[in-house]
Amino acid sequence: ELVNLNELYNYILDRFDMMLKNEPEDSKKNKHYSIKRDFTRRELWVEIDTDKFIQVIDNIMNNAIKYSPDGGVITCRLLETHSHVILSISDQGLGIPKKDIGHIFDRFFRVDKARSRAQGGTGLGLAISKEVIEMHGGRIWVDSIENKESTFYISLPYQEYEEDLWDEA
Ligand code: ATP
Ligand code: MG
Repeated sequence: ELVNLNELYNYILDRFDMMLKNEPEDSKKNKHYSIKRDFTRRELWVEIDTDKFIQVIDNIMNNAIKYSPDGGVITCRLLETHSHVILSISDQGLGIPKKDIGHIFDRFFRVDKARSRAQGGTGLGLAISKEVIEMHGGRIWVDSIENKESTFYISLPYQEYEEDLWDEA
């Protein structure tokens, strides 16, 4: 369906903000984080499967939390080029070793088995995310510096709708 991406992205991130608010203040179990949003103010409408898209962002956000120390900042961006919308999610976490970057979207691949096992998970999240994004004609990729940061990018094809064209005329 045709979806307002600004709204949907905000909705997904709101749920992550809510999870923090709803936990007891002295909770040692859950990791803390703060989310920074940097969105274009222009409304971006894209043709996507909402449920599948939510699954993708949920996995990338959960990874950003899971593979970062307590108290990290997660920066979420939304911008457009003339032909694509681009979403990005940056964390200040463990990062991904250079040699592993090419495998991160493979099924069951996890960086350093020992490190990942302690965190729980199957190693399927990103493989599924890639499938979903490519099904929508988009691309997903990552930039990372080990022990410092990771940024996941998603681009989706986008055409300006008539209203936007009128605005600019
Ligand atoms: P699942 O998502 O199935 O519960 P998972 O999180 O291990 O398990 P993926 O989401 O596919 O699986 O991620 C694959 C691997 O990539 C992870 O095990 C982790 O080693 C690495 N990884 C993913 N995201 C990050 C990140 N933001 N920072 C550092 N490493 C990451
Ligand atoms: Mg995951």
